[in-house]
Amino acid sequence: MSKIKIAELFYSIQGEGRYMGVPSVFLRTFGCNFKCAGFGMPRGELSMEAAGIAATHSLITPFQKYEELPLVSTGCDSYASWMPEFKDLSPMLTSEAIADRIMEILPQDHWKDEHLVITGGEPLLGWQRAYPELLDHPKMTGLKEITFETNGTQELTDEFRSYLHNWKKSNPEREITFSVSAKLPCSGESWDEAIKPQTVCEYEWFGTAYLKFVIATEQDFADAECAIAAYRKQGFKGHVYLMPVGGVESVYAMNNKNVAILAMKNGLRYSDRLQVPLFKNEWGT
Ligand code: SF4
Repeated sequence: MSKIKIAELFYSIQGEGRYMGVPSVFLRTFGCNFKCAGFGMPRGELSMEAAGIAATHSLITPFQKYEELPLVSTGCDSYASWMPEFKDLSPMLTSEAIADRIMEILPQDHWKDEHLVITGGEPLLGWQRAYPELLDHPKMTGLKEITFETNGTQELTDEFRSYLHNWKKSNPEREITFSVSAKLPCSGESWDEAIKPQTVCEYEWFGTAYLKFVIATEQDFADAECAIAAYRKQGFKGHVYLMPVGGVESVYAMNNKNVAILAMKNGLRYSDRLQVPLFKNEWGT
């Protein structure tokens, strides 16, 4: 029986991208190939905020659950879904346990119009092998729409490609989306590791893919334009969203309007982060 290490499993409203405003089950897997410690920092500097929280958790007072963890205003705002220091907060759950829990958190005890967001960390790491068993579980039958929120660096395995193809083909109402949050240099990750046009173009064979860039400065937008050109050159056809930086309200409120105007001026889509103004980006939202 397949198991998945689950950092969070909760019901909320999708705050970003194509499905903004849609009631959604969020399955946050544990593990990521990046660290993204550069968000919100002067270029070239990396945040130590999450490292300080990890040291408290490991050496001083362990946090008992996600909801107790402090939010960060710099670096990756999902830090506890990949930093090894927090892996004790993420249980390994069987497909059966995950499906049962989903039924508990759905308001009607079954899938209605809700969509499933498989996020992370980076959800297309090794867990690809475990998703078919979960998605084939009888309690998941009514599910019609899935989004993988990925950083766009992980190729799909042959087995998972074939599974996704058949999942979609078996019901014409089904939709698969890849929300690709490609990491620009402001994340602290290197260009060559983060911008993988060939990989993202291949996602388009199995569903709808779009790009989502986190923007804080003019330099970030210049970097996004270079990245967009690289994806287009490879044949990428999907939409492009600009999204303001800001895991906490004070940072988000500083640049959301500017990013919206930038998107309008350049004929690109604007993605909000509805979870920030609505729920202050608390865990479980
Ligand atoms: S890719 Fe996403 S989850 Fe991974 S470190 Fe970067 S922001 Fe965090």
